[in-house]
Amino acid sequence: MPTARPTPRPRIAALPVYSRAAGSASVRWRASSNESTVAPSPAIREAVARAAAHANLYPSLAGDELIAAISERMGVHEDQVVVGGGSLALLQLALTAFTGPGTEVIHAWRSYEAYPILIGIADAQSVPVALDHEYRHDSEAMLAALTPQTSAILICDPNNPTGTTLPPERLRALIDAVPGHVLILLDRAYQEFDQAEPDLAALVCEHPNVIVLRTFSKAYGLAGLRAGYAIGSPEVMQVVRATAPPFGLSAVAEAAALAAWGDREHTRHIVNTVTECREKFRRALGDRGLFTPDSRANFVWLPVGDRAEALQTACVRHGVSVRAFAGEGVRVTVGCPDAEAAVLAAVDEICRPR
Ligand SMILES: *Cc1c(COP(=O)(O)O)cnc(C)c1O
Repeated sequence: MPTARPTPRPRIAALPVYSRAAGSASVRWRASSNESTVAPSPAIREAVARAAAHANLYPSLAGDELIAAISERMGVHEDQVVVGGGSLALLQLALTAFTGPGTEVIHAWRSYEAYPILIGIADAQSVPVALDHEYRHDSEAMLAALTPQTSAILICDPNNPTGTTLPPERLRALIDAVPGHVLILLDRAYQEFDQAEPDLAALVCEHPNVIVLRTFSKAYGLAGLRAGYAIGSPEVMQVVRATAPPFGLSAVAEAAALAAWGDREHTRHIVNTVTECREKFRRALGDRGLFTPDSRANFVWLPVGDRAEALQTACVRHGVSVRAFAGEGVRVTVGCPDAEAAVLAAVDEICRPR
């Protein structure tokens, strides 16, 4: 056997690895990946079955039907929408198209784990900016991080894993202050759980350098099927479309997304379940003297610092997987009262006032 092996580009060899939550295979409840706890509605399941019966055929090249449905409801033109196999896939396309070697991409930190990986794949430099003391994006510090090399700035709002948002006027001010040649990637994966829905159509109309990323994985409950969309100005979206692999959205995922988009009752049910569980869980944590930042997403951030890993282990022992970030905190997906009770039992063990 020859000993020579193909070598990846150095940046690829050095990529951080996307972590798997401890115990996620063996536990009773999964509260580690921000999945919906609600199964797809009958309408969605029927649409999936119908589409599966024609799986021998290619889907439309660009997901035309879903684009039409999204553009109509969002109030944007069809050439302002790109759909694909999850919003992360679309983020990857945008980073590949607009950033790259010799450029910098600013993002908050702690924020979504996938960002440094995707920026690395695009061969750009990741510029993490610490959250402020309220676990929010620090807009001033992010603006201060702009350099002539900055090609893009990523805004995760609500932020994963802290659940925090920037007040609409501060988000506006941040977007207004970024120069027009810098791409602004606004990740609104959790938009539906945030009562303050910004007018995204107006935003992308006024700011041709903004791309908004949305997903069917969270409030529409389709994480397993992979569907997401991006909206922006016709000019930037044309570039994103040009970099997209053909048939990027499977026919089954498109059918499911269309059905979920039309089944507003189902989305409302998911959002209401999450909101009720989230507020009840936060109150129960507050009763135990544990502060949690105001979350506008389907998870709660427990800033337990050096007890993060011990709390994760205790949660697994109580039958629930959660996501720990060593030395910082634990992110708990909400939507199942039994799972939240199990986390509270673990909290009582690990976080009792000392
Ligand atoms: C879950 C999540 C997504 C969704 O990614 P998909 O590829 O659409 O499943 C995107 N951004 C953030 C911050 C998330 O937490």
